[in-house]
Amino acid sequence: MLIGAHVSPAGGPAKAIERGRERGCRAIQIFNQSPRQWKPTVYADEQVAAYHEARRGSRVDALLIHAVYLLNAATTDKDMRDKTRTSLIASLQAGDALGAHAVVLHAGSAKTGAVKPAIKRAGKVIREALSESENCPLHLENTAGTGGTLGRSFEELAGLLDASGDDPRLGVCLDSCHMLASGFEIRTAEALTAVLDDCEAAVGKNRVGSLHLNDSQTPLGSNRDRHADPGEGEIGADGCAVFLSEPRFDGLPCVMETPGPDKHGPTPEQVQFAKDLRRRGLAKRRRAARAA
Ligand SMILES: [Zn+2]
Ligand SMILES: [Zn+2]
Repeated sequence: MLIGAHVSPAGGPAKAIERGRERGCRAIQIFNQSPRQWKPTVYADEQVAAYHEARRGSRVDALLIHAVYLLNAATTDKDMRDKTRTSLIASLQAGDALGAHAVVLHAGSAKTGAVKPAIKRAGKVIREALSESENCPLHLENTAGTGGTLGRSFEELAGLLDASGDDPRLGVCLDSCHMLASGFEIRTAEALTAVLDDCEAAVGKNRVGSLHLNDSQTPLGSNRDRHADPGEGEIGADGCAVFLSEPRFDGLPCVMETPGPDKHGPTPEQVQFAKDLRRRGLAKRRRAARAA
């Protein structure tokens, strides 16, 4: 598992690699545009070259690009839909240029409308965006289930993948906080195994391609998206250790999108803590296997 953190892309993507290095990250995640503005970023050739050089000299092996939260691929509003498509295309093209592991997307919200047609609308925008970009995978993230957000269940994720043409570039990003908040008990190895069996049955094998490790400030099934630092929330250190040591997650990038002690995101100590929790989780699984 490539453990890391969401970092700022200020100063360009090479700087983001630098921030990842400082934190001991094996994977990083960035926004490729300002999270509050509809202004897609196109990286200049020099920025792309500097990024690749920085990455070669680092232990950062995976980049995730998180599409910004303004996007709503399921919208009924034409202007919003056009802006969402344009932004998603820019993210995927940035992912192509930077050799990203994937773009991660919250598919959107049905707001107060019906879910099925919303999934259809989102699928159309996603298909169009994939056709305007080359190779970069697109991972649809499970949501906490707040309001009409799509992707709260594996059935909804499966519906979104299907509506998006089941393109081989499509995958799923699982966020631990969102899972707990949307009602999935994931805090023991047995519970997580059962949840992932259901996930595979719905979306298919090997569709989970990236992970977000966030603890949750709010309880199981609360449908609220409030990230906590690992070990400081309802999932707890033991629950995070379970998530981090899950065999089906081996080799995947897993980034924290947590507040950090000073609200500046995960610190080097927290990245190390997550690595320690993975080791703790693996040891516990080995002990359980021996005892069985
Ligand atoms: Zn997330
Ligand atoms: Zn979240």
